[in-house]
Amino acid sequence: MNSRLLNISMMKLLSQYSLIPKDDKQQAVRINRFLMSAIAYVISFSLVCLSYWLGVMESWVIVFCAIAASTVFTVFYVWIRSGLNLKMADPSLTIIQMVVATIVVMFLMYTANHIRGPFLIIYLIVFLFGIFRLNTRQFLSLTIFVLFTYGLVIYVLMEYQPQKINLYEEMLQWMALASLLPFFAFLGGHISSLRQKLRNSHTELGEAMEKIKEMAIRDELTGVYNRRHVMELLDYEKNRSSRGDSIFCLAMLDIDHFKNVNDMYGHLTGDAVLWTVATMIDKTMRNTEFCGRYGGEEFLIILTQTDIKGALIFAERVRANIENILFPDLGPDFKVTVTIGLSEYHIREDVEKIISRADEALYRAKKEGRNRIESA
Ligand code: GH3
Ligand code: MG
Ligand code: MG
Repeated sequence: MNSRLLNISMMKLLSQYSLIPKDDKQQAVRINRFLMSAIAYVISFSLVCLSYWLGVMESWVIVFCAIAASTVFTVFYVWIRSGLNLKMADPSLTIIQMVVATIVVMFLMYTANHIRGPFLIIYLIVFLFGIFRLNTRQFLSLTIFVLFTYGLVIYVLMEYQPQKINLYEEMLQWMALASLLPFFAFLGGHISSLRQKLRNSHTELGEAMEKIKEMAIRDELTGVYNRRHVMELLDYEKNRSSRGDSIFCLAMLDIDHFKNVNDMYGHLTGDAVLWTVATMIDKTMRNTEFCGRYGGEEFLIILTQTDIKGALIFAERVRANIENILFPDLGPDFKVTVTIGLSEYHIREDVEKIISRADEALYRAKKEGRNRIESA
């Protein structure tokens, strides 16, 4: 029974596992890129097998290459797939992968007897992967590393197995690499910087889009939502409540005698007072409540997951907070008060209906003296 359970949980784990992560786009790109390099390893390995078949490579090289390639593959795959790569300055591990690949190629060059030429091409493929990440300086450092390791191979062969090497031929190949790789380095670095610029402008564009989206839903003067957006939110909340998922209340808030503020202190001061009131409403709300400017000095507040009792408590808090705001520039006695009409959503009623009930409550509260709350 226990082993059956174990089997089932193993199957579950395996079915949830995927070669490429599905929940993290950037990690998926890194794994994809790594799998491409794995294909390059497979192609190089096929070249080694072909060389063996042609009789120019020894059999132990095949075994060694198979072990080395599968070790490299496993280590890098686990490193990236486990997320441990995210702790590195370069999570794509490009430079480390390129250095490891260079060392593998160096080994092939050492064992390739007189057919080193074809394996030189692999260096170019290694460099191609750097285009995703490396700048010109890093490319040049890697060029020096490649030339040094190839030089080392030539030196060791000359020293220990001179019969396997033709110095002039190798020198020519070394020179070919020395003149070709810097070219790659500059071109690759250039492409890499273009990619970086593209990435930067993509980020800037994304930020600008966010700003535009935010501007489209905000009221310019007060910073709270604009009428269109608060109506959309109200519609959304109404639909949610109609399904019986939740209850909510609506508060309609109107500044008392606001016309007098404009008349006495001017329109600009009136604007500043409007902003201060809106900011105080915003500060008093929980983040599940939404406020929008409905008209000139009127605001709608949607109180989600709140019944009329909770709405009354909230409204009283807002009313008192606004009444207590100090406006030192407008004199010690200057006060702003607001009147609030509340309505609780009745299942399946229209948005217009809940607004008009809040409006009626507001009208009643105004008639009964202002700076107060009424509910419908
Ligand atoms: P009540 O207590 O009955 O609400 O009186 P009230 O003076 O607030 O109401 P009324 O509707 O007569 O006047 C609203 C005023 O709000 C008139 C208008 O000049 C002012 N107002 C509307 N929008 C703005 C605005 O964006 N900026 C400024 N400064 N004033 C505005
Ligand atoms: Mg009004
Ligand atoms: Mg008013």
